[in-house]
Amino acid sequence: MKIVTVETVLSANYPNCVWLRLETDEGLVGLGETFRNPQATVSYIHETVAPYLLGQDPRAPERHRNALMRSVGNRFNGFPTRSIEIRGNSAADIALWDISAKAMDAPLYRLLGGPAHDTLPVYNTCASDGYNFQANVSGDSRAAGEGEDDLARQVSDPGGLARSLLADGITGMKIWPFDRFAARHDGWQIDRADLEEATAIVAAIRDAVGNDIEIMLEYHGLWRLSAALDIAKSLEPYRVFWHEDPIGLDHITDLVRYRQETGGRVAASENLGTTRWLRDALTAGAVDVVQFDMGWVGGLSEGRRIAAMAEAFDRPIAPHDCVGPILFATDCHLAFASPNTLTQEIVRAYLSGWYADIADGLPTVSNGRLGLPGGPGHGAELRPDFLDGDGITRQASRL
Ligand SMILES: [Mg+2]
Repeated sequence: MKIVTVETVLSANYPNCVWLRLETDEGLVGLGETFRNPQATVSYIHETVAPYLLGQDPRAPERHRNALMRSVGNRFNGFPTRSIEIRGNSAADIALWDISAKAMDAPLYRLLGGPAHDTLPVYNTCASDGYNFQANVSGDSRAAGEGEDDLARQVSDPGGLARSLLADGITGMKIWPFDRFAARHDGWQIDRADLEEATAIVAAIRDAVGNDIEIMLEYHGLWRLSAALDIAKSLEPYRVFWHEDPIGLDHITDLVRYRQETGGRVAASENLGTTRWLRDALTAGAVDVVQFDMGWVGGLSEGRRIAAMAEAFDRPIAPHDCVGPILFATDCHLAFASPNTLTQEIVRAYLSGWYADIADGLPTVSNGRLGLPGGPGHGAELRPDFLDGDGITRQASRL
């Protein structure tokens, strides 16, 4: 079996996504995905990934990982970044694993030793269906949303939002009420009125549903240590389940201090979650819940290393989903194959919105529990009407 086509797919309607299709001479197709800076990523894939992969047997993702990692620099071996090269390699790696499992007519989790669970809990990231479609250079993670949705309700109706999640059986919610105040002092301090306004959102959730829901606070690394500590102190009465990226993840000693001074769980994260960074962060005692995005750290080959390393440090994983449907499907296979999965992130607005619009075969969530994903491979496909529809740009390198 050999790879005969490396094809990238972009969509004007989902302008941060890059899909990578690998076709073989035996008719099997593997599908990978990555996210952000799509034009540069596509250039890298056709300039560097395609010339290497064309003609290769796809059923050796680890061999190809090693070769493609070297393409970044001959001493490169997992440098902790989310560079364009790593993103392109990530999409290729996921497509290679997809073909490898399809060639055995098995769901991906079986190649990974699973399933280790019958079902898994999920938590909801309170985004809108249109969240994250824009380029993000402002440091403000809010983006276009449509109408009244989970993103808007974080501010307009946090108690009602919590109740609606509980009605869906979802008992964890992630919100980021402090983000919009971070730029005022570039994260160095938070004004008293802003602190009270954002804290009131968390208080409103506790007023509405008591302790029935777990609250995950996301800070997107926008704060410096002293301001982050002020925020954590303000939140003390409200039983926050985890604090995600409370400060920039490159400041490992500050993260350790944050954990010690707040006594809270630190979740970290897709923003720098490679094995090399996590090795140092876990050794320092900086992280409680290990997150990562396989579209940004090197694909499933890196994701399974991260999951295993977290287990060795007696820490759980919570794979990141807020990017695209193929990564979500891949997440679910690794989550089911890993004994130390705490919870799987979902965005219910995506699952019932654009994920469903463009992809088939996605894992399903029922009453707050994720069901075992299908196969073969990761089981997810882009819909034919999407691939042939408006605004699609396909570019192929062929053997
Ligand atoms: Mg995050």
